Amino acid sequence: VSARIQAPRGTFDVLPDQAALRAALEERARAVLEGAGYARVETPAFEATELFARGVGESTDIVSKEMYSFDDGGGRSVTLRPEGTAPVCRAYLEHGMHKLPQPVKLWYLSSFHRRERAQAGRYRQFWQIGAEAIGSEDPAIDAELIVLLVGLLDDVGSKGLRLRLSSLGTPAARAGYRDELQAYLRANADRLSEDVRSRIDLNPLRAYDSDHAGTREVMEGAPRLLDRLADDDLDHFAEVRALLDAAGVAYDVDPTLVRGLDYYTRTVFEFDSSALGAQSGVGGGGRYDGLIEELGGPPTPGMGWAAGVERILLSGAQDSLPPAPGVVELYLALDAGARRQDAFATLVDARRAGLHAQMEQGGRSLKGQLKHADRVGARQVAIFGEGGILLKDLETGDQETVEVDAVVPRALRARSPRL
Ligand code: ATP
Ligand code: MG
Repeated sequence: VSARIQAPRGTFDVLPDQAALRAALEERARAVLEGAGYARVETPAFEATELFARGVGESTDIVSKEMYSFDDGGGRSVTLRPEGTAPVCRAYLEHGMHKLPQPVKLWYLSSFHRRERAQAGRYRQFWQIGAEAIGSEDPAIDAELIVLLVGLLDDVGSKGLRLRLSSLGTPAARAGYRDELQAYLRANADRLSEDVRSRIDLNPLRAYDSDHAGTREVMEGAPRLLDRLADDDLDHFAEVRALLDAAGVAYDVDPTLVRGLDYYTRTVFEFDSSALGAQSGVGGGGRYDGLIEELGGPPTPGMGWAAGVERILLSGAQDSLPPAPGVVELYLALDAGARRQDAFATLVDARRAGLHAQMEQGGRSLKGQLKHADRVGARQVAIFGEGGILLKDLETGDQETVEVDAVVPRALRARSPRL
């Protein structure tokens, strides 16, 4: 016997119970986001590798080590999308959305791929709900997007949430700060982790993300980007905070917050949940005022976030979202001598009439069928037999012999008020 094939490492099957939860989460996301004017978009599952190299940044973890890239067979390198913002911005440009009234507000729920070390809450294929508002630098966009994610997470029952907020300023302020930080890191290089030391040139900001004790100590005394922002960036950040205050959203300003993507400018934020283990990030995002230009478009501000579907579910939504009711209103049972064609035609009629109907297909005895009908919570059972059809109401216990044409109308009349 050959070995059984299993799902690839870091992937999982979505079985019916989980699928129902995910559908409920998607429904909530749609209600929250479309209620705020965000329209659904879908982009391809793979893109030109260049899009992520330029849009996410060569120095990021995603681009430097997590992408699934391959030759498309025609000598072009394509990559399974590791994130959604660069593709949405590409679509914005490709479809001339800058001619629409700005900002253009979009949302998605899609699967993403990253070559990660698989562990609880960290997969190689995962799903994100994301929202982007492109074409405005109004701080009210930043605040609105954050409030929407708070609203969604609260609505679905995520627990132990903490919002951290910061500002990265403009690329110019960041460049000056970067030099300063690099000099500081070099001066303290002997106390840094190997990994951080090797990235001083490429991505010094990532030093803030390190768990390494020596590095953390060094970073305590490091210069802070928040103290180096230009006046208009400080004003923008102050306004975002004032709007969040006005909306009653609690947050911590965290000057060490560094997002893993190069394209962020100004506002960045992240939600963690204490209900999650080591992988505590539920979602995050920020402003990316330079990204569209990086992709070859006109200077265009943008802001967005993405939240992991699996992490949202693990953070408590799993227990709070209502299970989808699997209702059977009419069960067609087959006794000895039953005309199967009559039963099948009735099944089809019942479904056309909008009833949730099932027919015996498991080779059960009549007793087994009635037990099964009970197990699936059927309201009505129609027993097709040699002598005719017996229609039973399992809720009231009423039963009567009926003609085949009467089964569907009767079942409709008795239809469960739940539906
Ligand atoms: P992390 O610090 O956990 O690696 P990240 O900064 O790479 O997160 P983002 O790129 O900001 O994450 O993606 C937004 C959200 O998507 C994360 O907060 C998380 O909920 C989810 N996410 C990211 N990578 C994975 C993954 N490999 N498996 C499951 N969910 C993920
Ligand atoms: Mg990551």
